[in-house]
Amino acid sequence: MSQPPGQLTFVAPRRAKPARHLADLSMADRRAAVTELGEKAFRADQLSRHYFERLTSDVDAMTDLPAAARERLSTLLPDLLTPVREMTTDGGTTRKTLWRLFDGALVESVLMRYPDRVTMCVSSQAGCGMNCPFCATGQAGLTRNMSTAEIVEQVVSGARALAAGEVPGGPGRVSNVVFMGMGEPLANYKQVIGAVRRLVEPSPHGLGISARGVTVSTVGLVPAIGKLADEGLPVTLALSLHAPDDELRDTLVPINTRWKVAEVLDAAWAYAARTKRRVSIEYALIKDINDQEWRADLLGKLVKNKLVHVNLIPLNPTPGSKWTASRPEDERAFVRRLEFHGVPVTVRDTRGREIDGACGQLAAAE
Ligand code: SAH
Repeated sequence: MSQPPGQLTFVAPRRAKPARHLADLSMADRRAAVTELGEKAFRADQLSRHYFERLTSDVDAMTDLPAAARERLSTLLPDLLTPVREMTTDGGTTRKTLWRLFDGALVESVLMRYPDRVTMCVSSQAGCGMNCPFCATGQAGLTRNMSTAEIVEQVVSGARALAAGEVPGGPGRVSNVVFMGMGEPLANYKQVIGAVRRLVEPSPHGLGISARGVTVSTVGLVPAIGKLADEGLPVTLALSLHAPDDELRDTLVPINTRWKVAEVLDAAWAYAARTKRRVSIEYALIKDINDQEWRADLLGKLVKNKLVHVNLIPLNPTPGSKWTASRPEDERAFVRRLEFHGVPVTVRDTRGREIDGACGQLAAAE
């Protein structure tokens, strides 16, 4: 299924909702839910400890709960994600999982282990409505929004695999979560914020991941960036810019027809001022499309002297796209131009290209 160029989908199709899960709920709501099920409120704390700390959803393993309570409380831990396929590369330290959701929708997540950290790249929607022509997910259109717990479960499943020593390098923990899988996180705002809260809530109420280790990446939904700044959650904002001029960005990132480069950058600077967090500007280098030196120069002028970091991503190939990554010499020249303006810049070492698990390659087909 391919989208007509430039068409944007903001509202997800109405579909049946996944079952309510512990991870959908704040601590107060968990206590209320447990009481509704006829159990004492403190059972919510026990259940949270099992799920967020011991990483188990199996009530039979919860020996501190009476048998009758286990049965009743199990309704708060429904199976939301079914693994369909797992692919690994980099000696097992990069692994992509294809998941089937309760209604058959497919999503993917990617675990990447580095010497000093483990990053989980999670999906926030099945598909995406933002229609960026160089991104495989964007080409498939939007199936539906994911629930908070469906998002959290991707991280919990990675955490479980690490704790069990299934990922080479010994037992470990998830230190970073990036909302860079399928979907536009800020188009599923409420559920994504819920998920971020569960990730950063201290253990055992949540996973206890540092907010600075969480990155929300967006095509640039300006009002939602403003709202995010007001949440009091100092997560890192990544802005998928990909072009410094409106003419080109209108085609590469169609949301630009709503909110222009100047507006989205203003929103990013306001976010940085509010949170004191460095904003990451994502820029996929596409051969002869957006990699000219004059564009590097323009980008440098737009972002210099700001609380910013530019992340250049060599374009990853996607099916049906004629575009490819920039020539090495053009990439080097682009970096030099930005450095000339004093802009901190890195070229992302993209992982998972061999398993179609790199940026922009997640398409979730069986
Ligand atoms: N919708 C959000 C979250 C997805 S993040 C966003 O766009 O920011 C995925 C990141 O990979 C984004 O920065 C996206 O622009 C980038 N990307 C998409 N397709 C790509 C490709 N083919 N090669 C390299 N990066 C790509």
